[in-house]
Amino acid sequence: MHFLFLRIAMIIAAIGSHSSLQILKGAKRENFTTAIIVERNRESFYRRFSFIDKFLPYGNYDEALNHVNSLKDAVLVPHGSLIEYLGMERTKKISIPIFGNRNLFEWESNQKKKMSLLEKSGIKVPQSFESVEDVDRLVIVKLPGAKGGKGYFLARNKSELKEGISKLLEKKAIKSVDEVIIQEYVIGIPMYFQFFYSPILHRVELTGIDIRYETNVDGLRRLPWSMDISPTFVVAGNIPVVARESLLPKAYDYADKLVNTTKELVPPGMIGPFSLESVVTDDLEIVVFEFSGRIVAGTNLYINGSPYSWLYWDEPMCVGRRIAREINMAMERNRLSEVTT
Ligand code: AMP
Repeated sequence: MHFLFLRIAMIIAAIGSHSSLQILKGAKRENFTTAIIVERNRESFYRRFSFIDKFLPYGNYDEALNHVNSLKDAVLVPHGSLIEYLGMERTKKISIPIFGNRNLFEWESNQKKKMSLLEKSGIKVPQSFESVEDVDRLVIVKLPGAKGGKGYFLARNKSELKEGISKLLEKKAIKSVDEVIIQEYVIGIPMYFQFFYSPILHRVELTGIDIRYETNVDGLRRLPWSMDISPTFVVAGNIPVVARESLLPKAYDYADKLVNTTKELVPPGMIGPFSLESVVTDDLEIVVFEFSGRIVAGTNLYINGSPYSWLYWDEPMCVGRRIAREINMAMERNRLSEVTT
């Protein structure tokens, strides 16, 4: 009972976007007060949902930051839109506790550092090419800070690569070739493994798996002819998937490895949700081409729990609720500082 009072007094907050509905719905299920920092013209949309208690509407991102910092007894749950909206500089000025490890933001915003964390963990990653001249296979070219895969392109050889990069330079999408990531394109099917690391229970949980539904790479296969169109990778939605069980030990092994390396290189390490964005090849290898160190939008599929969350929790447990549960367990043990930074 005592802790129930504590929870009701405590606020879980999120910026209104991405997975905020899931986060706040989950927080309410765990008896927290909920708050949303929301762009003024989206407020009426979020007011449709009764599980949101406090609304802090903003007109610009400085105002959004001030709202966040004005919250008392609150924990902010970061998601994919936090840095996209506020930008890194404002995000650094957040003075209230953030669920998870804020030191990871810097790593996450730098594709090269991110890949190095995977490599140092001993996780299989696609080959990266530092120089155009070294490219000897099909590659995918990624733009810096690209949101949802926009602007990516495939190149089958050096001349296609050079042509694509020249176009990017012409369009001023990049200032120099050093800004792009040139990565081996792994043939296989995508699977995005969603995990949760609990510092309180000292365990990694698989919370779900999804596939991103991407234009036009997914749309092209609907045509009866093969077209000479380069596929695009703009994420428009997510599709649920379960993996054959024999893939899971490898996925868990990779998750454990990333948790351990992060503890060492980016203290206090991984806290809460993260995702391993992978391609599964024909010989059933998992190749991880990216990771996210926070809740991913693909978890929105499982607002009532996933086939995997049921293995741990005999109740509907979405990632939003799992975050609130972790905060709850931490508060009960007087260890809130171990799950926030
Ligand atoms: P990303 O922004 O790195 O998550 O990539 C966007 C999309 O591009 C992914 O969802 C995949 O469909 C595709 N993709 C990215 N990297 C690779 C890769 N190395 N091999 C195959 N597909 C990839």
